[in-house]
Amino acid sequence: MFQSKSSSTLPPALYVVATPIGNFNDLSARAIEILKTVSLILAEDTRVTGQLLKAVGVKTRTISFNAYSEAGKIPRVIDWLRTGESAALVSDAGTPAISDPGRLLIERLHEADLPVIAIPGPSALAAALSISGLPSNSCHFIGFLPAKGGARQKALDVGLGWPGTLVLYEAPHRITDLAGRLDQSAVGRKVVFARELTKTHEQLVRVDAGECADWFLNNPDRIRGEFVVLVGPNDSGESSYELNAAKLLAVLARELSPSKAASVCAELTGIPRRELYQKLTNPT
Ligand code: SAM
Repeated sequence: MFQSKSSSTLPPALYVVATPIGNFNDLSARAIEILKTVSLILAEDTRVTGQLLKAVGVKTRTISFNAYSEAGKIPRVIDWLRTGESAALVSDAGTPAISDPGRLLIERLHEADLPVIAIPGPSALAAALSISGLPSNSCHFIGFLPAKGGARQKALDVGLGWPGTLVLYEAPHRITDLAGRLDQSAVGRKVVFARELTKTHEQLVRVDAGECADWFLNNPDRIRGEFVVLVGPNDSGESSYELNAAKLLAVLARELSPSKAASVCAELTGIPRRELYQKLTNPT
């Protein structure tokens, strides 16, 4: 168990505190208050968080809690909260548990009936989406793609298959690789690179797929920094799943009666048979 140093006046809970993604002034007054009042801060990297805490005069005890130590430390955090203490969870930047450590801890706390309270604030995901000009009513966030090979392309293809806007995080050393893949795989779609948000070299660019790799080639300085990448919906508004189902139905209808083709397609895709039959017999 962690050693209790102060008894907090906060209701015992894990406070999931969002921290700036570049500009320290984005730390909310409520976040500072919580970080001062909890008896323990779980930080992805204590040195990174230490700089922020120093800048805002927070002296609370901080321990490391990262992707490698998360599973092992969960029982101690649960014991800590059960004694009536409170703790805050922070990551290096942005909102914890969004492509950052914490999700497993949070799930275990829910299972243990211990309260988890959000102290919302910066997140690269929300910041980029909010200024992208792309639809946010239907959007799909996939975090980081796998680093290499077939798994990388497959995850990108699956992501692009969703209807609506696709949002990804990408590291600078893979951004040109992603740009090249989007040029090939996202034809006809708008691509937005949101770079270094809230920082000195903040930049947002909107290009068409096909122009992505060139945008980086034209100025290699653009490869530096942190990126959120967004891909606008395809014009048809249909997911690749729907497009594939339409293709399958058309092929089956070449060989089978409309009724039989609709039944087989319904069995394979889960789309209601009546809907498919109507598409064949009464296309609009
Ligand atoms: N949990 C964090 C959040 O809510 O923003 C994200 C953590 S994830 C490990 C880090 C990734 O977020 C970076 O690789 C980049 O894709 C994105 N990111 C973080 N800060 C950014 C910034 N200032 N501008 C653009 N993207 C940023």
